[in-house]
Amino acid sequence: MNSRLLGIGMTSSRTRERMLRRLQEQGIADERVLQAMRKAPRHIFVDEALGSRAYEDSALPIGFGQTISRPYTVAKMTELVLAIQPRSVLEVGTGSGYQTAVLAQVMEQVYTVERILALQQRARERLAELGMRNVRYKHDDGQTGWPQHAPYDAILVAAASPEVPIPLLQQLAMHGRLIMPTGDATHQVLSLVVRTPEGFEQQTLSAASFVPLVHGVKS
Ligand code: SAH
Repeated sequence: MNSRLLGIGMTSSRTRERMLRRLQEQGIADERVLQAMRKAPRHIFVDEALGSRAYEDSALPIGFGQTISRPYTVAKMTELVLAIQPRSVLEVGTGSGYQTAVLAQVMEQVYTVERILALQQRARERLAELGMRNVRYKHDDGQTGWPQHAPYDAILVAAASPEVPIPLLQQLAMHGRLIMPTGDATHQVLSLVVRTPEGFEQQTLSAASFVPLVHGVKS
């Protein structure tokens, strides 16, 4: 392990503990989520220049006009999918790989799709460095999901779109949960979709602010 992986020494572990306390104050109560957030070194998922800000509760730039999600958002989305004891999750929008690192600790298998090849490669390297082996990566437009491994107990989308893409609904297991920001650039909400024998139940949870879900792939 290199020194970056081991943390920026005491500063990193102290600021990480502060982040944990803040998450609890913000209402994150699931111990599995808190433990996974404690162990995921957010500073290795941002540029070294931003390392000192890694445990702030804000989104930070990761290049290509994209951002690493706020710790609270990552924790909340993970808590929402864990409500049903899922074993497999499809993540759309790998980005930095930070949310992936949290999911990989609480699920048996994570399938993650990213449309920007360079981001996907960097995320893959970081997660390999952390020894996370239960993650499969795909460079693709995640709006079509990843049919080969469907159905998924949980689907988590990290980019906003006016509607939930139909292929993602089709790839959700019975009683499975899909979490995704819906709306446009100016008004978004976090939506939860649950698949029931009667159909899909969609509910709105809270205001959200994500980058848009974009069509196609980028090398
Ligand atoms: N949870 C990630 C968030 C990254 S931002 C993190 O914390 O780093 C959202 C990501 O979704 C970006 O990397 C963007 O490139 C990706 N994305 C946008 N549209 C996509 C699509 N159609 N398919 C796959 N990935 C997409």
